[in-house]
Amino acid sequence: MTPDSNLDRLALGARAAERARPGLTDARAPFRARWACLAEAGLMALRFPPAAGGTGAGATGLAHALASLGRDTTDRGLLVAVVAHSLACGSALVRFGTTSVLARWAERVVAGTCVAAFAVTEPGSGSDAYGLACRAVRDGDGYRLDGNKVHVVSAARADVYIVLARTAPDAGILGLSAFAIPRDRAGLSAYAVPHRGLVGAEMGRIELVSCPVREDERIGADGVGGRVFEVALAEERAVILAPLVGAMEAQLARTAARCATAIRGGKPIAEHAAAGARLGAMAQRATAARAWLERAARALDDPASAKDELRATSAMAKVAMSEAIRDNAQDAARLAGAAGLEDGAPCTVELDDAQTAGLISGPDDVLRELVARDLVGRLERQRP
Ligand SMILES: Cc1cc2nc3c(=O)[nH]c(=O)nc-3n(C[C@H](O)[C@H](O)[C@H](O)COP(=O)(O)OP(=O)(O)OC[C@H]3O[C@@H](n4cnc5c(N)ncnc54)[C@H](O)[C@@H]3O)c2cc1C
Repeated sequence: MTPDSNLDRLALGARAAERARPGLTDARAPFRARWACLAEAGLMALRFPPAAGGTGAGATGLAHALASLGRDTTDRGLLVAVVAHSLACGSALVRFGTTSVLARWAERVVAGTCVAAFAVTEPGSGSDAYGLACRAVRDGDGYRLDGNKVHVVSAARADVYIVLARTAPDAGILGLSAFAIPRDRAGLSAYAVPHRGLVGAEMGRIELVSCPVREDERIGADGVGGRVFEVALAEERAVILAPLVGAMEAQLARTAARCATAIRGGKPIAEHAAAGARLGAMAQRATAARAWLERAARALDDPASAKDELRATSAMAKVAMSEAIRDNAQDAARLAGAAGLEDGAPCTVELDDAQTAGLISGPDDVLRELVARDLVGRLERQRP
């Protein structure tokens, strides 16, 4: 089926979420069993067109499925790992992977029969991704890679790493290239690093020491790594917070229920003006975050979207969602009272998850600058 309307995309997303739900909610099951359940439900294939082995539900269907699943689980980290796998790694492979080796990885990533991780961030560059130091030096028909990557989702779980490295030292963004490197390659080591927030995303570190990579494992031409990164991140950014947007809706319902029933000073908490206004603001932010998510996903699905517009829309959407997630997590914790801060209470998980939202896929401060640069650039191009 090739969906031709937004409603078709939403229906495909809803169906995949229904099938994925049992595997996601059984947190005691081993990681591979849960991942396989999400893959068999078709979650990883939603974004891609049938020609690439996908179901054609697009970013709209995927965002809808993730928000729906995010409402029911506290393991939003695993869903975030699905986005990094599908949108950052899958999009890079499907869009730029022209060799048969890369086509084979693309097929497996779309089907979800492997786990992929996107490795860009380094200790010395952080949000300045283009300032990365990992080197890929020509060696015979291929390359040798040396460098360290940090905060990589699914680091110790992945079967394949999409690694961004520098192939030309003085060429800035044009000196970057992307590679698909299998887990068992000599010279590559991966470690999980325990962290707070989105715990199921299992972030970690990757070390590359004289790691040999073949030419047919390079994604796109030498020097187009910056473009691969840009496309992958515009995709990821638009949808990465979908599970947290769904969780925010569950959080709102839970908070509203408490405020309606807990009596303080002879009346429900919600009837005290300051608390009622806080609850109202939460509802407003949750609604706005959902609208931004849908808008950003639709922009990805619209073939007429211009490249710079897409980049700005997904950046603005991500900032708006992350601010709403952060503010609502704080308000929910406040309205829950001290009980909300007991170990393992939903509020504590939400507060930790919310801290990551402003950093994942690029810090909000950096994304706002990117939006401003695009805006100014567009105005300059329009000038006669
Ligand atoms: C949950 C999670 C998942 C992640 N997954 C991955 C992954 O799969 N792969 C991967 O490669 N990376 C991943 N990252 C890393 C993420 O991309 C980085 O955290 C992010 O780019 C910021 O880098 P940093 O943490 O080193 O912060 P820094 O670069 O040190 O920035 C810290 C702060 O400094 C300020 N700042 C820095 N630069 C600027 C600027 N130019 N303008 C204005 N303010 C600025 C901002 O306030 C920013 O928040 C993940 C991070 C998180 C939290």
